[in-house]
Amino acid sequence: MYLNGEKKTVEDVLSVFAPLFEPFVPLVQGSPKHDGSQPGPGIRGPEHISLKIDRDGFSRDVHTHMDSSYRLKIGEHEIEISAGGHSGMIYAFSSLLQLCASEGGNGAGLPAMEISDSPVFSHRGLMLDVSRHFFNVSTVKKLLDLMVVLKMNVFHWHLSDDQGWRVESFTFPELNTISSRREKTASKSRPVGGYYTHDEIREVVRYAGMRGIEIIPEFDMPGHVSAILAAFPQLSCRGVHGPVPGDFGIFEDVACAGKDEVYGFFSTLLDEILPLFPGPRVHLGGDEVPKSRWKECPRCQEKIRSEALKDEEDLQAFFMNSMIRVLNRHGKTCVAWNEAFYSPAMEDSAIMQFWREDGGAQLSNTALHGDRKVILSDFWHYYLDYPHGMTPFNKTWSYIPRIPNMKPEDAERIIGIEAPLWTEYVPNEERLYAMILPRIFALAETAWGRKSPEKFKNVLRRLERLELMLARIGYSGTPVRKASPGGIRAFFQLFRFFVPISWSRFLGTLKELKREGRR
Ligand SMILES: [Zn+2]
Repeated sequence: MYLNGEKKTVEDVLSVFAPLFEPFVPLVQGSPKHDGSQPGPGIRGPEHISLKIDRDGFSRDVHTHMDSSYRLKIGEHEIEISAGGHSGMIYAFSSLLQLCASEGGNGAGLPAMEISDSPVFSHRGLMLDVSRHFFNVSTVKKLLDLMVVLKMNVFHWHLSDDQGWRVESFTFPELNTISSRREKTASKSRPVGGYYTHDEIREVVRYAGMRGIEIIPEFDMPGHVSAILAAFPQLSCRGVHGPVPGDFGIFEDVACAGKDEVYGFFSTLLDEILPLFPGPRVHLGGDEVPKSRWKECPRCQEKIRSEALKDEEDLQAFFMNSMIRVLNRHGKTCVAWNEAFYSPAMEDSAIMQFWREDGGAQLSNTALHGDRKVILSDFWHYYLDYPHGMTPFNKTWSYIPRIPNMKPEDAERIIGIEAPLWTEYVPNEERLYAMILPRIFALAETAWGRKSPEKFKNVLRRLERLELMLARIGYSGTPVRKASPGGIRAFFQLFRFFVPISWSRFLGTLKELKREGRR
């Protein structure tokens, strides 16, 4: 076996790449028989495999500078893989694995073929909210394994929100003793608690890195900080706060942007935890920040006057920009949700994650200046926490990523797409995969790029095979045939999902869906 033209033992090469594919070994060992007897003979293919990393032979991804491109050639006697780097090599193996799993298993041979492959988008992301419900390291790793199969490369780890702070802190231990646990969940007395130790975070970062996956940690601020305020009420405008909430929604109490203490707290906290994350980007949230407390707060108003700011939106940009300077000190670039960009004062270097158009034209006018980059996570297509009755698979599949009212010349600002999974109503792994699968297939294929137009019924047939393959190694979600409900089935799913939350949200969603459908 050759790697970079150097003769290597099979063991050498396998020691690098085999551990990455260990969870998938059952797929190439042949299908288990229905009667439970020994698996079939497995895949038959060429006896030799040659691997070549060719850094000059492939161009790097424009925005992430990752090396995702590869060539895979299956001949009669040899499989040849060449790639621009580690990531490309992983994706080549991933393609080979899928070929083996679909063609093999019963002693069939691999078909002769040659593919040259590279992604359309540099950023192919999945977000997991571990605040509303906590997921342990093994669940996170299993999700990262799935991302390898789907050639996705960004794991956005939403580590803090109103309902829980999820990172060990030695500087502020109250974040773990108080902010990481709550007594109830959505009116039920079901406590939820947990946080990742520094060692666990390092382990996840290492595991992701080996799989060519960048981790973007998110520390949401200055809103969605109720869990932090439960331990440090002095950081709010009014200086008082209740326990970590178990209800969901948007809370009026946010971090006070007028107190120096608040700036000190968050920069000290970031200084402690940023070194755990070697990736180039950090998410600072910035979404859903009600301004009511700031409007009444003498300190916030004083800050607006003393810094000659226009209004509370400007104050938010002032706060975000202070935190961006902390990130910059650590060599990091900021990502934030689109509400952080209502003020034109927001730093040009910050990447906007667009999820929802609230301010109409205001957003595109103020946010898209300079060379601002954008990640698209459209609410109506990529939010995986809503039932298939609201966001059916076929809708996610046929969606072409765009910002509403975006000018054609702005298209190149889009560096990629990402599907968020918020977990208010996702308490366990079973539910997690029921929401992610199969819609994540649609996002992954849009992100990598579809090579040729395909009839939807052929898509379903192809994805059903992928579904079967994943089920064999423990990934079971919503069946792709049932993931595009319409009519009364969709209505019933919406009813079952929203009515226990609130009647008005149910009716409001129906109305919004109707309006959205007309666009
Ligand atoms: Zn204030």
